[in-house]
Amino acid sequence: MRFLLLIILSGLFSSVSAQKVYHRKLKLMGSRFDIYVEHKDSISANKYIDTAIFEISRIEKIISSWDENSETSKINRNAGVKPVKVSKELFGLIERALIISKLTDGAFDISYASMDKIWKFDGSMKKFPSKEEISKSVEKVGYQNIIIDKAKQTVFLKKKGMKIGFGAIGKGFAADKAKALLISKNVPAGIINASGDMNTWGKQPDGKDWNVAITNPFNKNKAFALLPITNGAVVTSGNYEKYVIFDGKRYTHIIDPRTGYPASGIISATVFAKSAELADALATSIFVMGIEVGLNRINQLPNVECIIIDDEGNVYTSKNIQIKTENLKKS
Ligand code: ADP
Ligand code: MG
Repeated sequence: MRFLLLIILSGLFSSVSAQKVYHRKLKLMGSRFDIYVEHKDSISANKYIDTAIFEISRIEKIISSWDENSETSKINRNAGVKPVKVSKELFGLIERALIISKLTDGAFDISYASMDKIWKFDGSMKKFPSKEEISKSVEKVGYQNIIIDKAKQTVFLKKKGMKIGFGAIGKGFAADKAKALLISKNVPAGIINASGDMNTWGKQPDGKDWNVAITNPFNKNKAFALLPITNGAVVTSGNYEKYVIFDGKRYTHIIDPRTGYPASGIISATVFAKSAELADALATSIFVMGIEVGLNRINQLPNVECIIIDDEGNVYTSKNIQIKTENLKKS
């Protein structure tokens, strides 16, 4: 979610080391990306930023459901027809997405995509869809009908009309891939921030950890917590950009794949994890699972933490996060 996370750079220029942080912002995967690379000289830093951009664009070509030539579109076109052989990378991503579906009892489901037809969060939706429309739209949804064959490296969507999409995990995946590539090229530190889905490595030039400021969703100019991130990812899903309001109730662009209704009740979910991909998928899942189940699941996972804010401004955290949890609407 754009602008929810601000990165605080405490020492852009350090007298201890000659390293500096170089930054570029641009649009990739339909979202704003901010790439920060730490290096001694600007020419090398810019070359590494180019490398990261190239990598993210490469991933986009594989996972995009808009691009007819992507592997993902090929899987979707062959729904109900035949298994499709895919790259190892895409196979791995789908395999991991299915693990998250199981872990969240189906709250996270890349086959949510066939519901896109009835829920539109671009302002074009004028009335709440009918019960019939909703139940019809979920007929084609269900991760159990995504059949993968590891030996053959194929993916098959069992039902005709089924569709997969990586809206809730793709930006995190791309951030992880770009980070891994720059680490393999010995870039000492950096941040790949995909509109609030970000992964970091190394430290700031002054030796301090990167910090992330969590914004108060009720007052976007105000941060309410500042937390260090060491070699890990932090992702926020928020419902204050893409949503619709019916009868005074706010519905987000995250949909419960089991019912076909959009999630409500939570305004923002931030997840800390080793990989941005996992954090991205879990942040989306929390919206669907709700506060109680969401906290419970996160507390069972090693090295994963979360901060959840509900519509009323109440703050909930997983067990290893210590921040002030006063009501954000009142503060
Ligand atoms: P953002 O893009 O705002 O950071 P998310 O990472 O939470 O938000 O992803 C939301 C997107 O994920 C939606 O726009 C939609 O494309 C897709 N999506 C919606 N509901 C689900 C779901 N239950 N499981 C998987 N993907 C979903
Ligand atoms: Mg997500």
